[in-house]
Amino acid sequence: MRHLILILGDQLDAHSAAFDGFDPKQDALWMAEVSHESTKVLSHKARSTLFLSAMRHFAAELQQRGWPLHYHALQVSSPAQTLGAQLQADIARLQPQKLIMVQAGEWSVDQELQAVARAAELPLERREDRHFLASTEDFAQHAKGRKMLRLEYFYREMRLRYGILLEKGKPVGGQWNFDAENRGSFGQDGPPLRLPPRRFEPDAITREVIAVVNARFANHPGDLTLFDWPVTRAEALEALEDFIAHRLAQFGEYQDAMWSGEPWLFHSRLSAALNLKLLRPLEVIERAQQAWQQGQAPLAAVEGFIRQILGWREFVRGIYWHFMPGYIEKNALEASRELPGFYWNGKTDMACLRDAIGQTLRLGYAHHIQRLMVTGLYALLAGVRPRAVHEWYLAMYVDAVEWVELPNTLGMSQHGDGGIMASKPYIASGKYLQRMGNFCEGCRYDPGQWQGPRACPFSLLYRDFLRRHRSRFEKHPRLRMQVRHLDGLSEAQLKQLELDAEALLQSQL
Ligand SMILES: Cc1cc2nc3c(=O)[nH]c(=O)nc-3n(C[C@H](O)[C@H](O)[C@H](O)COP(=O)(O)OP(=O)(O)OC[C@H]3O[C@@H](n4cnc5c(N)ncnc54)[C@H](O)[C@@H]3O)c2cc1C
Ligand code: SF4
Repeated sequence: MRHLILILGDQLDAHSAAFDGFDPKQDALWMAEVSHESTKVLSHKARSTLFLSAMRHFAAELQQRGWPLHYHALQVSSPAQTLGAQLQADIARLQPQKLIMVQAGEWSVDQELQAVARAAELPLERREDRHFLASTEDFAQHAKGRKMLRLEYFYREMRLRYGILLEKGKPVGGQWNFDAENRGSFGQDGPPLRLPPRRFEPDAITREVIAVVNARFANHPGDLTLFDWPVTRAEALEALEDFIAHRLAQFGEYQDAMWSGEPWLFHSRLSAALNLKLLRPLEVIERAQQAWQQGQAPLAAVEGFIRQILGWREFVRGIYWHFMPGYIEKNALEASRELPGFYWNGKTDMACLRDAIGQTLRLGYAHHIQRLMVTGLYALLAGVRPRAVHEWYLAMYVDAVEWVELPNTLGMSQHGDGGIMASKPYIASGKYLQRMGNFCEGCRYDPGQWQGPRACPFSLLYRDFLRRHRSRFEKHPRLRMQVRHLDGLSEAQLKQLELDAEALLQSQL
């Protein structure tokens, strides 16, 4: 065998760089489902099912082309295995002259596979992942000489580079960013009527995976009777069309809105298909741009959606590779508590958290503002170790791959990187949640109170967060107004605040 080409579970694109120069007469492909990828964090059943089913569908496509493929399918009885150990055994068996792979989506997997190649004294050609629109080198160039990295400047560069929403080199509509128009909430009547998102019934391959996952990972979170994610490129393209036709037009306006019992609202549900590489970011962006050109969706909605993919998604990947391996250890706010137990079972009286965590445990999905401003915000205010928060997010979401999950969790949501991802921590009291959703109406707490038996835990911990980090943020241009909430409090009141917060957090361990 000349080359053994490694295809990882989130690299399911037959046009990826891994296939460049592939010659089925001399080379072979290698894919492996290993238990360790589902157990190194307590992977949600839907996440494991999605990865394994999409891998098996992709493998079937490769086999249909008649390409030689060495595939390890996880069975209920297969021994526990890591990716590196499986590769090591297969190198000994297959004796390739060289290994080829595209850069992995996780730093430690990348390292693990390189170490296996070194130990076997085999050359490993590691290729850049051209799925992404900015290479790691492009990002390094962008970062060079800048004191601070900010999404907005990176995003403008990407718009110019790819000619997206431009007219004669200028942004269409006269501005780069329509964020100010994209902050709507639903009001008393709740979300407007809309069709439910397109579901994909599990086929025979997915049903087989579901049986393995249910048996093998029985104690992991998730309910697979609800599994309906796209697992092939054809299904992912259908999901994209469904979003463009039925939700894109209102995506912007309701991007930050929440409503109890409504997991999808106007979100695209495309992150997992994108992260598995069933969809290419540029085709998604261009399809959204076309919808605007054809009058199917307003500019603010389309710009808002494109910014998430051409901006945020590429930006967080740049941050990940630029700052790893040290990034995962960062803990700028020196947070040291453990994650409250209710993150694993959803049992809490806080209606907003019960809804977001309950939905996550059931479906493996929550939309961005639930992740950032409900589960993420609570962990931040409570002072939970960023690493523990990271492990929860990596385990829970169907779209979780470390390159995208870690900067979002540790950086954007927990401010663990001290301001690399975002200039200030995203902090708010229960009043913010009251404005953006309807949870507070059915909650035993009152978002307007931070003391006494009905004090909203968010509102209490918000003040305690400001108290703990007062000296760090009192001169911060975008936070000093918030720190001034403490100005009227006496020493005795501040002490009581500390005691109340401590008592609350102790009761949640
Ligand atoms: C704490 C935290 C953890 C997160 N973990 C992940 C993760 O593991 N995997 C993941 O793909 N996204 C993650 N995100 C980003 C975002 O929440 C999800 O991409 C989004 O909720 C997925 O749902 P959707 O496809 O319906 O997205 P939509 O709301 O429809 O957005 C459209 C697309 O934009 C992209 N996007 C939007 N926001 C971001 C962002 N901040 N970073 C990167 N891409 C973005 C996604 O590809 C998404 O599909 C996280 C955000 C937070 C705050
Ligand atoms: S009152 Fe506080 S805890 Fe209850 S739903 Fe509102 S924000 Fe959440």
